[in-house]
Amino acid sequence: MPLLDRFARPLRSLRISVTDRCNLRCQYCMPEPEYVWLPRESILDFEEISALVDAFMDEGVDRVRITGGEPLLRRNLPVLIESLASRQAIADLALTTNGVLLAPQARTLRASGLHRLTVSLDTLNRSTFQALARFDELDRVLAGIDAAAAEGFRSLKIDTVVIRGVNDDELVPLLEYGRRVGAEVRFIEYMDVGGATRWTADSVVSRREILARLEAHYGPIAPLDEQTSAPADRYLLPDATSFGIISSTTDPFCASCDRSRLTADGVWLLCLYASTGTDVRRPLRAGATRDELQRLVEAVWSVRADRGAEERLALDRETTLIPIRSLKKDAHLEMHTRGG
Ligand code: SAM
Repeated sequence: MPLLDRFARPLRSLRISVTDRCNLRCQYCMPEPEYVWLPRESILDFEEISALVDAFMDEGVDRVRITGGEPLLRRNLPVLIESLASRQAIADLALTTNGVLLAPQARTLRASGLHRLTVSLDTLNRSTFQALARFDELDRVLAGIDAAAAEGFRSLKIDTVVIRGVNDDELVPLLEYGRRVGAEVRFIEYMDVGGATRWTADSVVSRREILARLEAHYGPIAPLDEQTSAPADRYLLPDATSFGIISSTTDPFCASCDRSRLTADGVWLLCLYASTGTDVRRPLRAGATRDELQRLVEAVWSVRADRGAEERLALDRETTLIPIRSLKKDAHLEMHTRGG
C-alpha cells in the first residue's frame, strides 16, 4: 500500500537543498542586502543525505531533485549524485541550477549519473539580467546551457519566472532560444513565497496572459493532455514546439502535489508555504536506524494536509504575506533555504 496523506496524495518527489548559499541575488528570491546563513555544522553531509533518502525511498520517493541555494556551489556534488544515482528505486534524478558554474561541471554531472537538468534563465538581455540577478553572469549561464546541451541529459529545461515590466517582453525570444538549444522552456508565475519581499499581485503575469501573448505571436496553441503530478501544464505551438507553464499563483496544483523538501540542515517541509517542518537531522545524528527514520517519515506524511498555494490564493492579498522581520528570525522561511 503506498503511503498517502490526508488528501490521498502519495509521497513521491523529494527536493533536496544542498546549500542555502547562492551566487546570484535574484530580485524575486533574494532581494535583500543581507541574509542570515545556516550554521555550517548544521549542514548535512552526503552520507547523512543518502541515509535520509533511503528512508524516504522506503516510503515511496522515486524522484529526487537537487536544488538550493545554488547547488553547484556545494563542493564535490558529483559524489552525492553518484550515490543517489546508484539507487535503483530513484527513477528520476534531476538538478536545478542558475547555470553560472555549469559549463565546467556539465560533463561530470552527466557522468556521475544525473538524469535531468533544469537551468533558471529569466532573460536573454544582459542589462536585464544584471538588474534582475544583480551579477553580470548572463554569458556564463548561456555557456553553461550550451555545455549541458552537448551532454545528452534525458531532458534539459529552462525555467523562467515571468515578472511584469521586467522580462514579460521576452516570452517569444526565450521560446526561440530554447528551441535553438534543444531545451523546453517553462514559464513560472511569480509567486509570493518566503523571501520574495518585492512581490505584488500586479507584477504577476498569469498563465492566461502568457498564453494570450504567445497565441498573438504564434497562432493557436494546443494544450497537451497529460495526467501527471508535474507542476507544469504543457502546450504545443503550431510547429509542435512544446513549452510549459507553472501557474502556482493563479491555479495551484496542491490537489496533486506529491513533493516535499529537505533543507540543507535537515528540516523536512511538506509544502513550499509551510511555516514549520520536521527536524530529521536530530534523530539522524542521534543514531536513528533506517527503520526508525522510515517510521518518522510515515507518521509525518500520513497526517499531511498542506495546500499552501491554494490557501494563499484564497487570501486574495495584493502584497507579500511573509514580512521581512519573520524572515530575519527564521531563515527556513526563505525560498533559497527551502529550495525552489
Ligand atoms: N539556484 C538554483 C536556480 O537558480 O535554479 C536553484 C534554487 S532557486 C530558489 C530555484 C528556482 O526557484 C528559481 O529559478 C525560480 O524558478 C524559483 N523561484 C524562486 N523564487 C520564486 C518566486 N518568487 N516565484 C516563482 N519562482 C521562484
